[in-house]
Amino acid sequence: MRYQGREVDIEGRVRLVMESALTARDRVGVQDFVLLENYNSEAAFIENLRRRFGENLIYTYIGSVLVSVNPYKELEIYSKQQMERYRGVSFYEISPHIYALSDNTYRAMRTERKDQCILISGESGAGKTEASKKILLYYAVTCPTNDQMPALGERLLQSNPVLEAFGNAKTFRNDNSSRFGKYMDVQFDFRGAPDDLLTTLGLERNPQSYQYLVKGNCPRLSSVKEEVQKLLNIIASVLHLGNTQFGEGEEGETYITTETKITNLTKLLGVDGSALGEALTHKKLTAKGEEMITPLSFEQAVSARDALAKAVYGRTFTWLVEKINQSLALKEEIYHSGKGCSVIGLLDIYGFEWETVQYFDNKIICDLIEEKHKGIISILDEECLRPGETCDVSFLEKMEDTLGGHPHFVTHKLANGKTRRVMSREEFRLLHYAGEVNYNVNGFLDKNNDLLNRNLKEVMCQSDNQILSHCFRKEEAIDQKRPEMAATQFKNSLTKLMEILMSKEPSYVRCIKPNDAKQPGRFDEVLVRHQVKYLGLMENLRVRRAGFAYRRRFEAFLQRYKPLCPETWPNWHGRLSDGVSTLVNHLGYKAEEYKLGRSKIFIRFPKTLFNTEDALEAK
Ligand code: ADP
Ligand code: MG
Repeated sequence: MRYQGREVDIEGRVRLVMESALTARDRVGVQDFVLLENYNSEAAFIENLRRRFGENLIYTYIGSVLVSVNPYKELEIYSKQQMERYRGVSFYEISPHIYALSDNTYRAMRTERKDQCILISGESGAGKTEASKKILLYYAVTCPTNDQMPALGERLLQSNPVLEAFGNAKTFRNDNSSRFGKYMDVQFDFRGAPDDLLTTLGLERNPQSYQYLVKGNCPRLSSVKEEVQKLLNIIASVLHLGNTQFGEGEEGETYITTETKITNLTKLLGVDGSALGEALTHKKLTAKGEEMITPLSFEQAVSARDALAKAVYGRTFTWLVEKINQSLALKEEIYHSGKGCSVIGLLDIYGFEWETVQYFDNKIICDLIEEKHKGIISILDEECLRPGETCDVSFLEKMEDTLGGHPHFVTHKLANGKTRRVMSREEFRLLHYAGEVNYNVNGFLDKNNDLLNRNLKEVMCQSDNQILSHCFRKEEAIDQKRPEMAATQFKNSLTKLMEILMSKEPSYVRCIKPNDAKQPGRFDEVLVRHQVKYLGLMENLRVRRAGFAYRRRFEAFLQRYKPLCPETWPNWHGRLSDGVSTLVNHLGYKAEEYKLGRSKIFIRFPKTLFNTEDALEAK
């Protein structure tokens, strides 16, 4: 006797079924959300994700957008054999995969000769960095290279562990959380061998042959060793800094209680010991052209110490990134010398959402944050620069004065009991598209300020560790102008990034985190629903459904489905388009439900039939 019971199908309908009546579609869901009949239902959307996740099918399309759910376990789907399967194959002929997206992007770049970019978004721990690594791996393995150098993709891949070692941290949400946004360009040069180019330029490959290149002694290996030692010294010094303690004297003066450690620290940083000690406990002010030295309070000394540690670490990280960029751009002049070079950019960035702009107007919030003179960032900068007593609360009050009437800005004072949750006096709330977020102003000013005292900068730029003296420039210590504040720097680098991205053809990967426990097999519906909302996936789907969701080349379509119609089986001998229309007519499609293009068939609402690939593969 077959199992019989109640079953909810993929569209949310309850029915009685026998085991054999369960279709593959009900078991593994649909591989493209556009194939859901009930495409307006968020519940059906999530149910589809859940079923696929249960079958280890972590990838699903919304048209050409790839949705990925973090499996939190190693899946056997990233092998070289798998890569081979996806090479040159059209999107819909094979189950969804990050390799399919990688391959399509590569081919679009080649055939359309347009730079591409892949934008990977999702919350912390959703699998963005892993996705970017898989894409690089795909390019590293499958794209043609020359034998002089490992492929660029491979070198980028090798740079990953280095960047992660420095730039990642364990957080509550992700054991290996990227604390930096990463944008990579993978350059492809398919014009042939760069050797030819060198020959035509009359150049040799060996850098030693050129006086200009030998002068800096760059290619020597021993200099690399020295550099590593310097880098280690810096890392150790940051740890020593963290253990530097202060005491408070009788007259409120601050002194260092861990003198022995300071000696060590001084050596590692390559700076003058007494100057460092002084700079950690005093500040230098210039008033009316005269220099004054005043002691720091205990709290000020502690934050000066932490600011130094952050600056040393942060700037060294920036140096490392520059270094890696240089090594990757080694052949830049060759790459840029011809027209045959195209680029695929990869963006793996924490917590950002670019594309939703397409579906709703985010301008009002963007202006609120970054508008000149009256946006939040401007107000923050102003408050940091204003002489006199400023503090986080005065910043909040300033915002209330300036932004009081704004429909997306709320504080305790402005709320008038209208808001649902009680707010503290130190908070402000922004009504984002994705939901309301409360921000506590505590520490905003400090974080935005360049906290590093001028005399600490002076000490650091004297360092005989070349990495540090590179990171702390003399000019900066002398400069009386305020440097750019943190938020403004961040805003500017985002603007620059946007310009780069806008010049390219985008593809999207949306990563979803199935549970907060980092466990395989657990699908927390509430958590997933929230992400589906703020990633704008339902809007994605609606837009996609508005058009003809399914498209495939005549040959591929016939090849795949010809067994379903006696007139096309085993072979169709007439024109391809005639064969295709014979086939779809046989399957019961009405004229308004599909269209034949020059080389492709377009179907508005493809039925379950054209979605059997996962099921066929799962067998
Ligand atoms: P994000 O960059 O979005 O914060 P990560 O890419 O670092 O998240 O992923 C967090 C963790 O989830 C990884 O360290 C890994 O253990 C796991 N993970 C993510 N994607 C996959 C995947 N495709 N296969 C297996 N494990 C994954
Ligand atoms: Mg990451």
